[in-house]
Amino acid sequence: MQLRRLAPLVPLLALLAAPACALAAGAFDAEQATRAWLDTIPHEAKLRSDAYYEGGYWLQLVDLVFALLVAWLLLRGGLSARLRNNAERLTRYKPLQSMAYAAQYLILVTLLSLPLNAYEGYWREHAYNMSNQTLADWALDQLKGLFVSILFMAPAVAAVWGAIRRAPKTWWLWGSAIATGFLMIGMVLGPVFIAPLFNDYKPLSDPKVRSEILSLARANQVPATEVYEFDASRQTKRISANVSGFMGTERISLNDNLLKRTSPAEIRAVMGHEIGHYALNHVYKHLLTFTVLTIIGFALARWAMERLIARHGGTWGLRGSGDVAALPVLVAIFAVLGFIGTPITNTVIRTAEFEADLYGLNAAREPDGFAQAAVRLAEYRKMEPAAWEEFLFYDHPSGRTRIRTAMQWKAEHLADQPAGR
Ligand SMILES: [Zn+2]
Repeated sequence: MQLRRLAPLVPLLALLAAPACALAAGAFDAEQATRAWLDTIPHEAKLRSDAYYEGGYWLQLVDLVFALLVAWLLLRGGLSARLRNNAERLTRYKPLQSMAYAAQYLILVTLLSLPLNAYEGYWREHAYNMSNQTLADWALDQLKGLFVSILFMAPAVAAVWGAIRRAPKTWWLWGSAIATGFLMIGMVLGPVFIAPLFNDYKPLSDPKVRSEILSLARANQVPATEVYEFDASRQTKRISANVSGFMGTERISLNDNLLKRTSPAEIRAVMGHEIGHYALNHVYKHLLTFTVLTIIGFALARWAMERLIARHGGTWGLRGSGDVAALPVLVAIFAVLGFIGTPITNTVIRTAEFEADLYGLNAAREPDGFAQAAVRLAEYRKMEPAAWEEFLFYDHPSGRTRIRTAMQWKAEHLADQPAGR
């Protein structure tokens, strides 16, 4: 059965299930209430989202193998050296050569990855009934993505290779600073210039929802004067919301699927979570953590890159680490480090998400709205993973953890819930 057809039934079933269970127990039992919420998901839908999510584990491995294969193809086949020669014919100025190389590299890698990306981002999404996009729209988004990545990556590559040439011993430190700098620029520009390339953002139109959210924001010292809605339904059926921006461009955005498909209690619960990210300064904390991880990554990358180039540089037509044609080597090393580091980055993010969940429960006081939203997220996330799965693969608490947390909160705050909730 298709998820989309079941979706309207879920809230009804949930409304019936939660109070029934509470009555049956005589008192509110968090464990039973959690089970009741989880059981609102039809068996077939659960199998489907489990398969979708577990497939994603394997895709991470496939992506890594593919990235290594592309690097090997570029280096071993001498393509990378040829791209560098093209760039050198174009200009004598080193930074421009690096940028020209990077632009060619990105175009070539995008073309090589197109079949895999189309499978992951288009066919697989359609197979699981998650996508609203035509192939042409999807391709246009890819083209925009390529444009943005050239705009950011070409100068970043030029800066990193400038550092490698000027500071052969300490370039990993400069490289980390450059990567962090570009990340920060991306964060500042993201909501203002990049996100609007893919979706329409406009102030939330529903005055009731808008004023509720802004008052929730004020109550939690979030200096938001505007909340945005965007047409995520152009691409996907998923519900989501996010906090984005940095140093003055911060904003909370709700996707239209969330606004169309969910109840006011759910929207309040989701907003409480997003406000939690804001109030708990997660952007700054993540930036700090990722800067440390970047420094470690660049230190390891320098070590590995020097060894690889000393051994194979000649066969690959590279003139040393300072040769921008060595970019595929660095990219391959970061692909491996990123893969190995996934449980670490997932745990950093998941921990913050759990904090935001608790903050949101305290702020919005909508445990059932929160549980309902968690049930909806089960359309694209495995609801009840094993502990090791949650640790390795989850960048958010699992649905079961989230519902359990909400029901525990509800059990301990039943007395202060207004009547009728
Ligand atoms: Zn979050």
